[in-house]
Amino acid sequence: MLLIAASAQAETDEPFAPLELPLTEISSPTGTPSTSYWQQQLSYKIDARVNTDKASLTATAVLNYRNQSPDTLKTLWFELPQQRFAQGSLAREKYQAGASEAGGTTRLRVTDSARQPLKTGWQDTLVAVTLDTPLKPGQQVQLHFAWDLKLVSRSHPLVPRSGYEQINGENRLLAFAQWYPRALRYGPQGWNLRPFVKNAEFSLEMADFSVTIDASPQYLLLGSGDWQSAGQNLPESVFKQYQQVSADTPATLLGPGQPWPVNNQQPWRFKGEQLRDFTFVVARDVIWQARKVTHSQGDILITAAYPDNGRWLWHKYALEAGVFAIDQLSEWLGQPAAKSIHLVNIAGLGMEYPGLKLVGFRGPDADITGPAPQYSRTQKYDVIGGILHEIAHAWMPMTVNTDERAEGFFDEGITSYLAFWLEQRWSENFQSFYGEPARVGAVMTATDYLPPVTFAEEVNSKLDSHYHVPAVALNILRETLLGRAQFDTIVADFFHIWRGRNAGFSDFVRFVNQQSGEQLDWFWRGWFMHRGYVDIELERAQVILPQDWNRDQKLAYLQHYPSAPSLTRIRNGDLGQTYEQRNPGLLDRHSLMDDQTYARLGAKTKAVEQPQLRVTLRNKGSIPMPAPLQLHYADGTVQSYLLSVDLWRQNPEQVEIMLSLAPDKAMSLLHLDPLLQIGDARRVNHRITQPEF
Ligand SMILES: [Zn+2]
Repeated sequence: MLLIAASAQAETDEPFAPLELPLTEISSPTGTPSTSYWQQQLSYKIDARVNTDKASLTATAVLNYRNQSPDTLKTLWFELPQQRFAQGSLAREKYQAGASEAGGTTRLRVTDSARQPLKTGWQDTLVAVTLDTPLKPGQQVQLHFAWDLKLVSRSHPLVPRSGYEQINGENRLLAFAQWYPRALRYGPQGWNLRPFVKNAEFSLEMADFSVTIDASPQYLLLGSGDWQSAGQNLPESVFKQYQQVSADTPATLLGPGQPWPVNNQQPWRFKGEQLRDFTFVVARDVIWQARKVTHSQGDILITAAYPDNGRWLWHKYALEAGVFAIDQLSEWLGQPAAKSIHLVNIAGLGMEYPGLKLVGFRGPDADITGPAPQYSRTQKYDVIGGILHEIAHAWMPMTVNTDERAEGFFDEGITSYLAFWLEQRWSENFQSFYGEPARVGAVMTATDYLPPVTFAEEVNSKLDSHYHVPAVALNILRETLLGRAQFDTIVADFFHIWRGRNAGFSDFVRFVNQQSGEQLDWFWRGWFMHRGYVDIELERAQVILPQDWNRDQKLAYLQHYPSAPSLTRIRNGDLGQTYEQRNPGLLDRHSLMDDQTYARLGAKTKAVEQPQLRVTLRNKGSIPMPAPLQLHYADGTVQSYLLSVDLWRQNPEQVEIMLSLAPDKAMSLLHLDPLLQIGDARRVNHRITQPEF
């Protein structure tokens, strides 16, 4: 068996052993926040001035930080992930990107409330600020920051999650993300001090924001949170339209080739309560559409902004996909934290932020008023699927906060499943890249596959291990293990209970186990914690006859089963009657049955009322799974079974089960996993057409 424990703690090979999950003081054993739950309280006031030509900004921030933890803090940690573009960063070294464009934060100054400088210490993308007076539990400190930041191109080899896109030599779209000193999350396990290199994303606190930004005239600015200054920033005619955006029809606020009026007033002001982050985009010469989704707790505004080139697929699908996703998911999971969500297309940048989703897929360049251009199936479903995915992130990690750095598979796995759920409701023929059990075997049997719990900087294929496999696992949890109604209720309750708080994967596991009442530790271990795959073999199927049947009853039953063909017997049919048939006096009971039927008369018997099928299943993979079976009869009737995973508890490698057979017809096929629902990697051993006797 191929089992490799991925977590640091000593994990067992025993598939049904109870899982050892970390339980901290903020979580209860039932997967809900504990009565002593705490999280840090933060509020930022940030003022920034953007230089669009230089793709840079200069900013100051005031942070009020209240220590709600039971610990005294001498140091506060912040992350400035764009430092990976700075010379000498770990990312440059690891990915040999030494000669690439430099960017990141420069001239960071930190002072206390009396404006006295505080000591800072860099650790790659992290910076420690040493407080003059240790911050005791319940105390608040005010920090002042000033800094400059330079963006890199969106096509930088280190794969940025922010950056600028040039069109015709101009910086047309600039995504300012990870642009201010973001407080690293302090939790019951301390600080997560692993720097951001490339793949392990962000460990952040929820915070209140008040942000003011000065940008160049002619640029539209879209940001996280509630936009306070639309009336000043937008030209009157556009503002009027903006105010009238409804759920009924999409409104085009800025059209193609529509010159952006130069008299828009600065600054742009935004406010947000309990947002996981604050991000903004400045853009010019974009098409900008908007529509609302009505929700019982307040309408949600969706807008889509995309540049004039390559806009055909965005024009046709972006706003529709956004409206559809918000409508469907808020129905299921409750309202997202953001009241407005902007979709922005910057080529190559795909990343979720509160109220702002960057989606990099664009499709071919073509005029929106012209005929449909040539585009591939993948181009189409990348655009729509990319939007559905980033919108689904509005629930995790934006509404329920998670530690993306430590548990990249948690938010990506849930989000990838939600996206799959949306995709398959959008179209029955949607090209879904993640979430379908039929296709997961190839990924999980690959020699370099690592399980979802693997740290994102160490996983070989993040899309396989953090997106596809967890999404498939959740699909199986819903369709095969819990059923749709129970799964949907449990997931909705989880989002409701953890709304605005920090949840970990362990909380989710405990919550599902407790709410469902099912023993699912084997499932979490097999699909999330260990390297392995599903491979169940239908090894043997044998007919057992009732002990008290006499010879004639047996013979009558066996005659339903065809004997194995014989080429000699078939060809001898051309010769006409055999000698025995021409001389009926020679016939006896042995002449009237073939060797096989004679042998079958000696079939195994048992004290049962009707014939049974003894089925041997072998678990050749490492993950025990329920066994969906279909029993087909020669007359076309079918009986379906779903054997519980408990099957494997006695012997996780091989089991025998008994199925009752109809007494008056032959089985023609026993089919394991006919609907490809358990993610089995090998399907050549899933069918038996001739039982043994
Ligand atoms: Zn994602």
